Amino acid sequence: EQRREFVANVSHELRTPITSIRSYAETIEQSLEDMPKETVLSFLGVIINETDRIGMIVKDLLQLSQFDSGRSDMRFEPFNLTDSLRRIHQALILEAAKHKMEMTLDTSEDLPMIEGDKSRIEQVILNIVSNAVRYTPEGGRIVISAKKAEDKVDIKVEDNGIGVPEEDLPHIFERFYRVDKARSRSMGGTGLGLAISREIVVRHGGTITIQSQLGRGTAVTVTLPVRQGGGEAA
Ligand code: ATP
Ligand code: MG
Repeated sequence: EQRREFVANVSHELRTPITSIRSYAETIEQSLEDMPKETVLSFLGVIINETDRIGMIVKDLLQLSQFDSGRSDMRFEPFNLTDSLRRIHQALILEAAKHKMEMTLDTSEDLPMIEGDKSRIEQVILNIVSNAVRYTPEGGRIVISAKKAEDKVDIKVEDNGIGVPEEDLPHIFERFYRVDKARSRSMGGTGLGLAISREIVVRHGGTITIQSQLGRGTAVTVTLPVRQGGGEAA
Protein backbone atom coordinates (compact mmCIF):
# COMPACT_ATOMS: atom_id res chain seq x y z
CA GLU A 1 0.00 0.00 0.00
CA GLN A 2 2.83 2.35 0.96
CA ARG A 3 4.71 1.54 -2.20
CA ARG A 4 1.62 2.20 -4.30
CA GLU A 5 1.13 5.54 -2.60
CA PHE A 6 4.80 6.40 -3.08
CA VAL A 7 4.67 5.69 -6.81
CA ALA A 8 1.49 7.76 -7.12
CA ASN A 9 3.19 10.64 -5.32
CA VAL A 10 6.30 10.47 -7.47
CA SER A 11 4.25 10.42 -10.64
CA HIS A 12 2.22 13.38 -9.54
CA GLU A 13 5.25 15.41 -8.49
CA LEU A 14 6.93 14.80 -11.84
CA ARG A 15 3.84 15.28 -13.96
CA THR A 16 3.28 18.85 -12.77
CA PRO A 17 6.60 20.29 -14.01
CA ILE A 18 6.53 18.11 -17.13
CA THR A 19 3.09 19.43 -18.09
CA SER A 20 4.30 22.95 -17.61
CA ILE A 21 7.49 22.42 -19.67
CA ARG A 22 5.48 20.84 -22.46
CA SER A 23 2.98 23.68 -22.68
CA TYR A 24 5.59 26.46 -22.59
CA ALA A 25 7.72 24.70 -25.20
CA GLU A 26 4.69 24.11 -27.39
CA THR A 27 3.69 27.78 -27.19
CA ILE A 28 7.17 28.83 -28.28
CA GLU A 29 7.14 26.30 -31.10
CA GLN A 30 3.78 27.50 -32.43
CA SER A 31 4.09 31.24 -31.95
CA LEU A 32 7.79 32.03 -32.04
CA GLU A 33 7.38 34.46 -34.96
CA ASP A 34 4.78 36.60 -33.16
CA MET A 35 6.36 36.56 -29.72
CA PRO A 36 8.39 39.44 -28.33
CA LYS A 37 11.89 38.35 -27.41
CA GLU A 38 11.31 39.02 -23.68
CA THR A 39 8.32 36.66 -23.66
CA VAL A 40 10.34 33.93 -25.32
CA LEU A 41 13.11 34.44 -22.79
CA SER A 42 10.73 34.35 -19.85
CA PHE A 43 9.09 31.14 -21.16
CA LEU A 44 12.54 29.59 -21.57
CA GLY A 45 13.27 30.66 -17.99
CA VAL A 46 10.22 28.72 -16.80
CA ILE A 47 11.35 25.68 -18.77
CA ILE A 48 14.81 25.85 -17.19
CA ASN A 49 13.38 26.25 -13.67
CA GLU A 50 10.98 23.36 -14.07
CA THR A 51 13.74 21.19 -15.49
CA ASP A 52 15.89 22.01 -12.46
CA ARG A 53 12.97 21.07 -10.24
CA ILE A 54 12.64 17.66 -11.90
CA GLY A 55 16.38 17.23 -11.50
CA MET A 56 16.16 17.97 -7.79
CA ILE A 57 13.28 15.58 -7.24
CA VAL A 58 15.10 12.81 -9.08
CA LYS A 59 18.27 13.47 -7.09
CA ASP A 60 16.32 13.21 -3.81
CA LEU A 61 14.58 10.04 -4.97
CA LEU A 62 17.89 8.45 -5.95
CA GLN A 63 19.28 9.26 -2.55
CA LEU A 64 16.26 7.70 -0.81
CA SER A 65 16.43 4.62 -3.00
CA GLN A 66 20.10 4.19 -2.12
CA PHE A 67 19.17 4.29 1.55
CA ASP A 68 16.33 1.79 0.98
CA SER A 69 18.58 -0.71 -0.76
CA GLY A 70 21.42 -0.26 1.70
CA ARG A 71 23.71 1.01 -1.04
CA SER A 72 24.32 4.39 0.52
CA ASP A 73 27.98 5.06 1.02
CA MET A 74 28.21 6.77 4.40
CA ARG A 75 31.72 7.90 5.15
CA PHE A 76 32.22 8.19 8.88
CA GLU A 77 35.04 10.42 10.02
CA PRO A 78 35.56 12.72 12.99
CA PHE A 79 34.63 16.28 12.18
CA ASN A 80 34.19 19.61 13.89
CA LEU A 81 30.47 20.29 14.26
CA THR A 82 30.99 23.90 15.33
CA ASP A 83 32.73 24.62 12.00
CA SER A 84 29.84 23.03 10.11
CA LEU A 85 27.27 25.05 12.03
CA ARG A 86 29.20 28.27 11.42
CA ARG A 87 29.37 27.55 7.70
CA ILE A 88 25.65 26.84 7.47
CA HIS A 89 24.85 29.93 9.52
CA GLN A 90 27.04 32.03 7.23
CA ALA A 91 25.50 30.49 4.14
CA LEU A 92 21.91 31.24 5.15
CA ILE A 93 22.20 34.48 7.08
CA LEU A 94 21.96 36.54 3.89
CA GLU A 95 18.88 34.67 2.75
CA ALA A 96 17.37 35.26 6.19
CA ALA A 97 18.26 38.96 6.06
CA LYS A 98 16.49 39.21 2.72
CA HIS A 99 13.32 38.26 4.59
CA LYS A 100 14.20 40.60 7.46
CA MET A 101 14.83 37.64 9.73
CA GLU A 102 17.30 37.47 12.51
CA MET A 103 19.33 34.24 12.58
CA THR A 104 21.59 33.53 15.50
CA LEU A 105 24.00 30.72 16.24
CA ASP A 106 24.56 29.64 19.80
CA THR A 107 26.99 26.78 20.40
CA SER A 108 28.62 25.84 23.66
CA GLU A 109 32.42 26.01 23.83
CA ASP A 110 32.88 22.37 24.78
CA LEU A 111 31.28 20.76 21.73
CA PRO A 112 33.09 17.50 21.04
CA MET A 113 34.11 16.26 17.60
CA ILE A 114 31.38 14.21 15.96
CA GLU A 115 32.02 10.96 14.17
CA GLY A 116 29.82 10.90 11.13
CA ASP A 117 29.37 11.62 7.46
CA LYS A 118 30.14 15.31 7.54
CA SER A 119 28.54 16.35 4.27
CA ARG A 120 25.38 14.38 5.01
CA ILE A 121 25.05 15.83 8.52
CA GLU A 122 25.54 19.29 7.02
CA GLN A 123 22.82 18.45 4.50
CA VAL A 124 20.46 17.56 7.38
CA ILE A 125 21.11 20.80 9.24
CA LEU A 126 20.83 22.81 6.04
CA ASN A 127 17.45 21.17 5.32
CA ILE A 128 16.14 22.05 8.76
CA VAL A 129 17.41 25.63 8.75
CA SER A 130 16.06 26.11 5.21
CA ASN A 131 12.66 24.95 6.45
CA ALA A 132 12.82 27.44 9.30
CA VAL A 133 13.50 30.23 6.79
CA ARG A 134 10.88 28.97 4.36
CA TYR A 135 8.10 28.58 6.92
CA THR A 136 8.71 31.75 8.93
CA PRO A 137 7.16 35.04 7.87
CA GLU A 138 9.11 38.26 7.40
CA GLY A 139 10.63 39.70 10.51
CA GLY A 140 10.90 36.31 12.21
CA ARG A 141 13.64 34.92 14.39
CA ILE A 142 15.64 31.71 13.98
CA VAL A 143 17.99 30.30 16.56
CA ILE A 144 20.45 27.52 15.76
CA SER A 145 22.01 26.01 18.84
CA ALA A 146 24.10 23.02 19.81
CA LYS A 147 25.07 21.64 23.16
CA LYS A 148 26.69 18.56 24.58
CA ALA A 149 24.61 16.11 26.59
CA GLU A 150 26.63 13.20 28.00
CA ASP A 151 27.92 11.21 25.01
CA LYS A 152 25.54 12.96 22.64
CA VAL A 153 25.13 16.32 21.01
CA ASP A 154 21.80 18.12 20.61
CA ILE A 155 21.46 20.39 17.61
CA LYS A 156 18.35 22.51 17.73
CA VAL A 157 16.77 24.84 15.18
CA GLU A 158 13.99 27.03 16.52
CA ASP A 159 11.81 29.47 14.63
CA ASN A 160 8.81 31.60 15.46
CA GLY A 161 7.11 30.89 12.15
CA ILE A 162 3.80 29.43 11.01
CA GLY A 163 4.14 26.18 12.98
CA VAL A 164 2.61 22.79 12.20
CA PRO A 165 -0.92 21.71 13.22
CA GLU A 166 -0.85 19.00 15.87
CA GLU A 167 -2.57 16.42 13.64
CA ASP A 168 0.14 16.80 10.98
CA LEU A 169 3.10 16.35 13.35
CA PRO A 170 3.11 12.52 13.32
CA HIS A 171 3.39 12.54 9.51
CA ILE A 172 5.94 15.27 9.02
CA PHE A 173 8.86 12.89 8.33
CA GLU A 174 6.95 10.88 5.72
CA ARG A 175 8.01 11.10 2.11
CA PHE A 176 6.21 13.86 0.19
CA TYR A 177 4.29 14.96 3.26
CA ARG A 178 3.56 18.67 3.33
CA VAL A 179 1.12 20.49 5.53
CA ASP A 180 0.10 22.91 2.82
CA LYS A 181 0.97 21.36 -0.54
CA ALA A 182 0.25 24.48 -2.56
CA ARG A 183 2.22 26.77 -0.28
CA SER A 184 5.20 24.43 0.01
CA ARG A 185 5.33 23.69 -3.70
CA SER A 186 5.17 27.36 -4.62
CA MET A 187 8.27 27.77 -2.49
CA GLY A 188 9.99 24.92 -4.28
CA GLY A 189 9.30 22.22 -1.70
CA THR A 190 8.75 18.54 -2.48
CA GLY A 191 8.26 17.21 1.01
CA LEU A 192 11.36 14.99 0.82
CA GLY A 193 13.72 17.10 2.92
CA LEU A 194 12.74 15.80 6.35
CA ALA A 195 12.32 12.22 5.10
CA ILE A 196 15.91 12.24 3.82
CA SER A 197 17.11 13.97 6.97
CA ARG A 198 15.58 11.28 9.15
CA GLU A 199 17.18 8.48 7.10
CA ILE A 200 20.59 10.11 7.52
CA VAL A 201 20.19 10.76 11.25
CA VAL A 202 18.94 7.24 11.96
CA ARG A 203 21.94 5.81 10.09
CA HIS A 204 24.10 7.75 12.51
CA GLY A 205 22.39 6.15 15.48
CA GLY A 206 20.70 9.46 16.25
CA THR A 207 17.19 10.83 16.52
CA ILE A 208 15.30 13.72 14.97
CA THR A 209 12.22 15.19 16.63
CA ILE A 210 9.90 18.09 16.01
CA GLN A 211 7.91 20.21 18.42
CA SER A 212 5.58 22.80 17.07
CA GLN A 213 2.67 25.03 17.87
CA LEU A 214 0.48 26.36 15.12
CA GLY A 215 1.07 30.05 14.62
CA ARG A 216 3.76 30.14 17.31
CA GLY A 217 6.77 28.34 15.88
CA THR A 218 8.69 25.13 15.51
CA ALA A 219 11.73 23.50 17.05
CA VAL A 220 13.52 20.61 15.36
CA THR A 221 16.12 18.74 17.40
CA VAL A 222 18.74 16.37 16.04
CA THR A 223 20.54 14.27 18.60
CA LEU A 224 23.74 12.57 17.46
CA PRO A 225 26.01 10.19 19.31
CA VAL A 226 29.49 11.67 19.60
CA ARG A 227 31.06 8.42 18.51
CA GLN A 228 29.81 5.62 16.34
CA GLY A 229 29.52 2.42 18.32
CA GLY A 230 29.31 4.39 21.56
CA GLY A 231 33.00 4.06 22.50
CA GLU A 232 34.75 6.20 25.09
CA ALA A 233 35.37 9.75 23.97
CA ALA A 234 39.06 10.47 23.56
P1 ATP B 1 11.78 20.01 0.50
O1 ATP B 1 12.46 20.09 1.83
O2 ATP B 1 11.78 18.64 -0.10
O3 ATP B 1 12.24 21.06 -0.44
P2 ATP B 1 9.48 20.68 2.08
O4 ATP B 1 10.22 21.75 2.83
O5 ATP B 1 8.05 20.94 1.76
O6 ATP B 1 10.21 20.34 0.73
P3 ATP B 1 10.15 18.91 4.29
O7 ATP B 1 11.38 19.67 4.57
O8 ATP B 1 10.20 17.43 4.33
O9 ATP B 1 9.54 19.29 2.86
O10 ATP B 1 9.03 19.39 5.30
C1 ATP B 1 7.75 18.77 5.26
C2 ATP B 1 6.66 19.75 5.66
O11 ATP B 1 6.79 20.05 7.05
C3 ATP B 1 6.74 21.10 4.97
O12 ATP B 1 6.08 21.07 3.73
C4 ATP B 1 6.01 21.99 5.96
O13 ATP B 1 4.62 21.87 5.79
C5 ATP B 1 6.37 21.37 7.30
N1 ATP B 1 7.49 22.06 7.97
C6 ATP B 1 8.78 21.68 8.00
N2 ATP B 1 9.54 22.52 8.73
C7 ATP B 1 8.69 23.48 9.19
C8 ATP B 1 8.86 24.65 10.01
N3 ATP B 1 10.05 25.00 10.51
N4 ATP B 1 7.76 25.39 10.28
C9 ATP B 1 6.55 25.04 9.78
N5 ATP B 1 6.33 23.95 9.00
C10 ATP B 1 7.38 23.18 8.71
MG1 MG C 1 12.26 21.29 3.47
